[in-house]
Amino acid sequence: MIRTRFAPTPSGIFTINDLHNALFSYLIAKHDQGEFLLRIEDTNQDKYDMDAENNIYAILKLFKINYDGKPVIQSERLNIYNQYAKYLIENGYAYYCFCDEKKLAKERIEATSKNITYMYDGSCRNLTDEEVKSKISNGEEYVIRQKIEKNGTTSFHDEVYGDITFENKSLEDQILLRSDKTPTYNLSNVVDDGLMNISYVTRSNEYLSSTPKYIQLYDNFNFDIPKIIHFPMIVDENKRISNISVISLLNSGYLPEAILNYIALLGWSPKSNNEIFSLKELIEEFDYKNIQKDSCYFDIKKLNWYNRKYLKMMNNDDYLKYIMPFIIKNSNMKNKSRDFVNKIALLYKEHINNPIELVEMSKIFFDDNIVYQQDCRKYLKNSELVRKIVLTFKDEIIKINDWNIELINNCLNNVSNICNISGIDLYMPIRIAISGVTKGPSLVDTIYLIGKEKIINRLG
Ligand code: GLU
Repeated sequence: MIRTRFAPTPSGIFTINDLHNALFSYLIAKHDQGEFLLRIEDTNQDKYDMDAENNIYAILKLFKINYDGKPVIQSERLNIYNQYAKYLIENGYAYYCFCDEKKLAKERIEATSKNITYMYDGSCRNLTDEEVKSKISNGEEYVIRQKIEKNGTTSFHDEVYGDITFENKSLEDQILLRSDKTPTYNLSNVVDDGLMNISYVTRSNEYLSSTPKYIQLYDNFNFDIPKIIHFPMIVDENKRISNISVISLLNSGYLPEAILNYIALLGWSPKSNNEIFSLKELIEEFDYKNIQKDSCYFDIKKLNWYNRKYLKMMNNDDYLKYIMPFIIKNSNMKNKSRDFVNKIALLYKEHINNPIELVEMSKIFFDDNIVYQQDCRKYLKNSELVRKIVLTFKDEIIKINDWNIELINNCLNNVSNICNISGIDLYMPIRIAISGVTKGPSLVDTIYLIGKEKIINRLG
């Protein structure tokens, strides 16, 4: 049975790359009725952030990326990693290192700033047992480093990136256990992937170059080497790894279903030409053989497209329920009657990419201070005709006693006949005069909901 895992480190924001990773790992398992596990990699107490951990659970739940069983919490398993580190020492696959960590960190920074690849020089690799014992009994601080096999090469097969071979001499003796006895990711990920029987190790491609070191550790521990699948990363317009926060997208009014659908297609292509997929459909279609190697650009325009589609697909009740908190939080509509707000929200249902846009666009119903948008000008060139249309419209509107859609329609017909004009040439000057914008829902509905009094005031 396929077992995959999502193994986030709870520090900082949960990004779309984290979500992408979780989704792909989930889909790979569920496509084959396998298990998808969650592992919280919280062994670095300096980086640990409780809010970040809570966000991981909340986001997975919201996106319905459900994990099997209980999450594995690494900070509860420190003794296990210590035992495995001890095993490595006893079998000559790791060694105690007493080098001054601060000094090494400084050297690393200096080298990196000069664009030189830094590698720990292995000073402590060949300390004798006696030397080690005496240093430890003198209370010297130490870390445990992997004793990389420096001869030959290490190869592995990645399901996305193919066969990869590294020269062992290019691999660093990385730290496995810190001086505070907590494991680094390099140790705990291998131990846990082994102990949790993870059959497919799935993660983003930033770990490709570390994988040969993990392969050596799997061998050292006599673990079966899992299938290895690295995912392409989502990047921004500068080709940097995107750190867009999932929470910020949700707060900006992007629906979980739309975000999920969009990112599923970043770096994976379905066999069909379909673009709209529910999670269930993704499970059916997802084949990791169709994951691509190249980084994918996060295009907010495409996400807008998806969000608009998903908003349109919602039934009216769900749509209103979803939209309302945004309105309450961000707009001056909050003091209006629920019925009125619902009408406006529904009017825009097919016209918005997200609820924040609704808040912005619907200002025309409340704010009498009309700000004419740039693109209005081109519709107002024939100023004499425009004036005539607007004044006639005002005269006709004043005559309406019973404010309803039918009479507003009649009123527009009258203006059309009197000014001998129709279509966009008629509607645009009126729309601009009452709202200052060129785009929006149907003109008749807009007039109706702005209300007679406000319309007359706005026409001056
Ligand atoms: N804790 C690692 C991270 O958050 C996980 C990498 C992995 O999935 O193995 O980047």
